[in-house]
Amino acid sequence: MLLSPEQFAKLTEYASYSSHKLQDMLQWFQPSGMLHKYLSEDGDTLDYDGFRQFMNVYFGADLPSDLTQQLFLSFAFPPGANQHRSSFLSVVQSAFVNDEGSVGGVACSSKLLETPPILSTPKTERRPSLIEKTLKNVFFQDTEPKVDDFGLRRIPLKPLACYLSLLSGSSLPIDKLEFVFHVYDSDDNGYLDSKEIESIIEQMMNVARYQQWDTIELEPILKKMMADIDYDNNGIISLEEWIRGGLTTIPLLVLLGIDTEIKQEGCHIWKIRHFSKLTYCNVCRQGLSSWGGKQGLSCVLCKYTSHERCVLQAKNNCIHTYSPQANKEAKMTHHWLDSNNAGKCFKCKLSVGIFEGKRCRWCNLLLHDACVQASIDECDLGVLAYHILPPTNIFPSFLNTKKEGNNEVGALLQTTPPLGNKRPLLVLINPKSGGRQGEKIYRKFQYLLNPRQVYNLGKHPPEIGLRLFKGIKNCSILACGGDGTINWILESMDKMNYGNDRPPVAILPLGTGNDLARCLHWGGGYESEPLVKILNNIEKATIVYLDRWQIHIEQTKKSDKGDPQPYNIINNYFSIGVDASIAHRFHVMREKYPEKFNSRMRNKLWYLELSTTETLRSEYKNLHEQIDILCDGETVDISSGPNLEGLALLNIPSMYGGSNMWGSARKERSLWGKSSFFSPIGGSSNNLHSRVQDISDKLVEVVGVENVMQMSQIKAGVRGARRLSQCGTVVIQTHRSYPMQIDGEAFVSPPSLIQITHKNQVPMLVGKSGKRELKFNFFKRKSVDSNCSH
Ligand SMILES: [Zn+2]
Ligand SMILES: [Zn+2]
Ligand SMILES: [Zn+2]
Ligand SMILES: [Zn+2]
Repeated sequence: MLLSPEQFAKLTEYASYSSHKLQDMLQWFQPSGMLHKYLSEDGDTLDYDGFRQFMNVYFGADLPSDLTQQLFLSFAFPPGANQHRSSFLSVVQSAFVNDEGSVGGVACSSKLLETPPILSTPKTERRPSLIEKTLKNVFFQDTEPKVDDFGLRRIPLKPLACYLSLLSGSSLPIDKLEFVFHVYDSDDNGYLDSKEIESIIEQMMNVARYQQWDTIELEPILKKMMADIDYDNNGIISLEEWIRGGLTTIPLLVLLGIDTEIKQEGCHIWKIRHFSKLTYCNVCRQGLSSWGGKQGLSCVLCKYTSHERCVLQAKNNCIHTYSPQANKEAKMTHHWLDSNNAGKCFKCKLSVGIFEGKRCRWCNLLLHDACVQASIDECDLGVLAYHILPPTNIFPSFLNTKKEGNNEVGALLQTTPPLGNKRPLLVLINPKSGGRQGEKIYRKFQYLLNPRQVYNLGKHPPEIGLRLFKGIKNCSILACGGDGTINWILESMDKMNYGNDRPPVAILPLGTGNDLARCLHWGGGYESEPLVKILNNIEKATIVYLDRWQIHIEQTKKSDKGDPQPYNIINNYFSIGVDASIAHRFHVMREKYPEKFNSRMRNKLWYLELSTTETLRSEYKNLHEQIDILCDGETVDISSGPNLEGLALLNIPSMYGGSNMWGSARKERSLWGKSSFFSPIGGSSNNLHSRVQDISDKLVEVVGVENVMQMSQIKAGVRGARRLSQCGTVVIQTHRSYPMQIDGEAFVSPPSLIQITHKNQVPMLVGKSGKRELKFNFFKRKSVDSNCSH
C-alpha cells in the first residue's frame, strides 16, 4: 500500500505550499485544538474521517480523494513484515533523492546480511528520538495487516505529522540529518559502522556520477570527509557526530542528493560546480578554493554561489517562481543578487567591481548598489522576455476563490496569459535522450526561464506541464528529445481538447532519431549551441501544419504472436521489409549492448555499419507475392520491374537521419523512366515523377525499396526509392511475418491487415535554416494534384 510516484510527486507539491511545522500540527490536537475531537482516547490514533479533516487543515485545500485514500492506506497497512523497512525507505527516500540516486537498495539490503557490530558504548544510554520511534512504531510492526474496510482502520498521528513535516521542506536541516542518519543506520544500533559508512560513500558517489563529477578525484575526498566526521576517531559515527559534521563542516545533505528539489520558494537549489576562473562566494565574499580546486555550490535557479562550508549561512533569497497572491495587477520586480563578478553599470556606464553592485536574475541588468536605489523597481525580464512566463502570472489555484479562468481540475497552480507580444514557452525535456544532454539543458532552461516552465519528462508526464499552460492561449511548446519523445508529447496534446488553440511545437533534437526535427529545420542533433540562440530561433519561427496518420494493425491469424505495436500514430514514416529489418536488428543490438550506444556518434556509426554489411538480399525478395497494397482504394502493382524488398510510407521528407526517399521532383525524371509501373491514382493520369512531397497536404507518399544497395544509395542522396503512389488512405495486407517500423521503432508483425488513414494536422514550428535554405514545399502543392486526395 504505497503511493505511486505520481501521487507522491503531487503530495510533495501540495506540501510545498504548506508552511505548518510539526509543532503547529501537534497543537491542533491539544485539548483546546480544533482537531482534538478526532483523536482516539489514548490520543494516539486517527480514523479516516479525522485524517481527512487533518489533511484539509494542513494543506488548506481539498486533496484529490484518491490521494487521501492512498495516503491513509499507506499508514494503515504498512508493508509486509519482511520488507517493511525497505519499502518504507523507498517511499521516504523518493522524497529526497532524485531519480537515479537510489539509496534504498544499498542501505537496506545490508540489514538482512548483518552481523552484530561491536559497540564501544552500551546501547541503553541512547534515548530514541521521535523520528526513530516513528520508524519503529509504524513500520516495524510484525503484525500482518488484514485488508478490511479502511473506514474502520485507525492510523497513528505522530508518524503522520512527522512524515508531513519532512515532506514540506519547512523541516530544518537538523531534522533531515537525523532522519537520514536513521535511514543509513540499517541495523538500528545508533551508530554508523564501517559498512554503513561505505554505503553512504557509495551513495555520494552515485550522486557525483549523476552530476558528472570526476569521481576518481572525489572518492578519496569523501573518505577523508567521513573520517573527519568521526570526531573521536573510534571508527564509528554517532548521531551527534553526524549532525555536528552535517551542520558545520560538510554539506552532507547536498552530497547525498537531498536538498536539490524545488521544495520551498526562496530556497536555493544547490549543485556542485567546478569553475574555470576565480569565482567568489556570495556568503563570505572570499574566492572559491577548497578541496578539489575552484569548486563550490551554485544555485541552479539564480547562480548564487557558496563555499561548501558557507552554505548553511546562505540566505534563502532565491527567486520566487509564482505569486503567493492571485493579483493580476502585480508588477514584476527585479530580483537583485550581489554581483560576484565585475562589469559595467547599465545606468551610469562606469565599471562595477566584484561585490560593488547587484545583478537581476531575470533581466540580467547590472547596477551599482547606489544606482539600484535610484532606479525603477519594475523588471522587463530582459532579452528572453518573449519566452518567459513571469512569476506574477502564476499563482496557486486554490487562491482563485472566484474560480475564474481556465482552471484544470486538480491543478495546483494556475496561470494567466502575459500581456503584449509574448509567447511563453513550455519546455518539456526527456532527460534520457542523448546521453546526459537532457539533464544539462534541463538545468540551463531552469535558469534562463521561469523554472515553472521547464519539465523533466523522467519525473512528470507531459500532461503536468500542458495543464499548467492550458490557460495560456499564446504559448508555444519546446519538445527536447528524439522522435519518440515528440510522438509522446504530440499524443499527450491530442488528449488536451485544445480546439483551435493548440499550441505549436518546436523541437530541440537530442539523441539519434531526429527525423522530424531535421525536416522542420531544427537540426539533426544538439551540438551544445547556446540555448539563448535556440530561443532566438524559436522567436523567429513560423507555423506549419503537420499531417499525422492513424495506423491500425490487425492480425489476420489470431494465433500468431507478434511484438506490440509501438505507436498508433505515424508522424514520420512507416515501413515493411528490408529497411525495417535493419532497424529491428539495430534495436536488438542496442538492447543487447547498451554501453556501445552511449553517444550519438556511435549510434550513427553502428547504424551505418549495419546497413552496409547486412546481407538481407534474399530474405524479402518475394515481397510482391506476400503483400497486397491498396492506395485510395486501388491496387498498386508492385510485381513488375525489379523485385522490391521493402515498402515505405512517408509523411516527412527525412528518414534514417536525413535520407529523402521520395527524392526531388526534377532529378527523378532522368533516374526513373518507369512510369508504367505505377497504376494511375484516382483516375488521374498525373505523373508521379512531378509530385512534390509536402507535410501538410493530407497525402502520404508510398515508395518501394529494391534492396540494401539501393538503400545505401538513398542514404548517400544519389537516388530516391521507387515511387508507387501519393494518396490519402492506404490498406496493406501481409501474408507472412514481416519486420516493420513506425517512426524508427521496429517490431515484427505476423500476417495482418494494416489500415492507414489521415488523423489530423497539428501546428509545428519551423526553424529558420542557416545560409543554405532547404527547399521544402511545405505550403505549396501543385494544383493538379488537388483532385487526387480523397
Ligand atoms: Zn537561488
Ligand atoms: Zn564562503
Ligand atoms: Zn530585472
Ligand atoms: Zn552605476
